[in-house]
Amino acid sequence: MRPIDHTHNPELTSWIDSANAPDSDFPIQNLPFCRFQTAAGSISIGVGIGSLVLDLAAACNLFAPDLRDAISSRSLKSVMQLPVAQRIALRQRISELLSADCGELQDDTELRERAVPGQDQVQLLIPAQSRDYTDFYASVFHATNVGSMFRPNNPLLPNYKHVPIGYHGRASSLVVSGTPVRRPVGQLSPAEEGGAPSRGPCKLLDYEMEVGFYVGPGNELGTTIPIAAAEDHIFGMALVNDWSARDIQKWEYQPLGPFLAKSFATTVAPWIVTMEALAPFRCAAFQRPEGDPQPLPYLTLESNQSQGGVDLQLQVAISTAAMREQGLPPHPLSSGSFRDMYWTISQMLTHHSSNGCNMQPGDLLASGTVSNRDRGSRGCLLEMTWDGDLDNPVPGTQRTAIQLPGGEERKFLADGDRVIMTGFCDNDQYRRIGFGTCQGTILPATE
Ligand code: CA
Repeated sequence: MRPIDHTHNPELTSWIDSANAPDSDFPIQNLPFCRFQTAAGSISIGVGIGSLVLDLAAACNLFAPDLRDAISSRSLKSVMQLPVAQRIALRQRISELLSADCGELQDDTELRERAVPGQDQVQLLIPAQSRDYTDFYASVFHATNVGSMFRPNNPLLPNYKHVPIGYHGRASSLVVSGTPVRRPVGQLSPAEEGGAPSRGPCKLLDYEMEVGFYVGPGNELGTTIPIAAAEDHIFGMALVNDWSARDIQKWEYQPLGPFLAKSFATTVAPWIVTMEALAPFRCAAFQRPEGDPQPLPYLTLESNQSQGGVDLQLQVAISTAAMREQGLPPHPLSSGSFRDMYWTISQMLTHHSSNGCNMQPGDLLASGTVSNRDRGSRGCLLEMTWDGDLDNPVPGTQRTAIQLPGGEERKFLADGDRVIMTGFCDNDQYRRIGFGTCQGTILPATE
């Protein structure tokens, strides 16, 4: 686990006023990384501070020589692959340069204007050009809810509590927040059991509220990442929306898992909150109920058990085209927590590399839909509109529509719907830090 140090001091303030606002996602205690294009067309990596972004390439001479190559790159992978000690040193120097009592950047008017543009003056890009994207299924509540819809008497398959379940996603269709998402066309599940499928625009379009984490240095092919080293190989975390076409999924998923139901688009947030920033918000791993098996030894570590969780709050809201026309604000759909995931991020990474699979800087691993026990925490419409619950699974697919302000209702997403995901960490002792926004708007299908 990363140390808690002076960069986490809740009293610390920045000379950038907007970072000191109590509701800012990006106070000086956060310092999330991003990648952006300037108005002049150049691409840089940067760090969010209040409503501004520190252009690391532009400010490169203020950093130690051994960090300059990494931070003046156009790719975040050069920072992700730094050893942990250098990532910590980089955070400490950025914190120092942005703190209220440091004049080095604050007093250099010319450099300041060049190196700290407003977020509204740049275009935020996809933060890492991930070569691989893997999606897990780490919420036992999500897995049980979804399993209950199809197998009311046997919702959780027998492997679930032993092995972190995942599938290989599609890296080429990762898009940054704000990119419109086209409704997919595909083979849709037969209306009746045993019937023939149809082909057309997806009718059961859904989102999945997920948390992703990016691989740091990673491992060579044929080697593994032991659980004791896993935290060092995780760079940071970000919001992810794994858009899902349920009618395509239902028809195609057996026996090899999701395919075209997921690969038409996955939206990622532009901001990556580092594991250094998250140090004050680590918590115990999910407490397995009595009678559940313990993980195998290669997935077991005392510090993972005591601090492998992340106390991260997640919120989903919807804004339909009609709501926007009427000037109505986004409507909250759910509010969940990442605390109660059955598998920790270290266990997911360690398991992924346990066969010798090489994990590479910038690879994205996502958690799977984050749902908790209560209904208001369900992280996708498939679960939200389902009439059953964990204690009373209802066979079949009875669904109740969600009522929206302005008189509309939804069971699944309509064209023009905008799904807005946010997340933050907060506790009594430390400054609240936010994850920014991960959003996308549905465009109609093209036949
Ligand atoms: Ca998913």
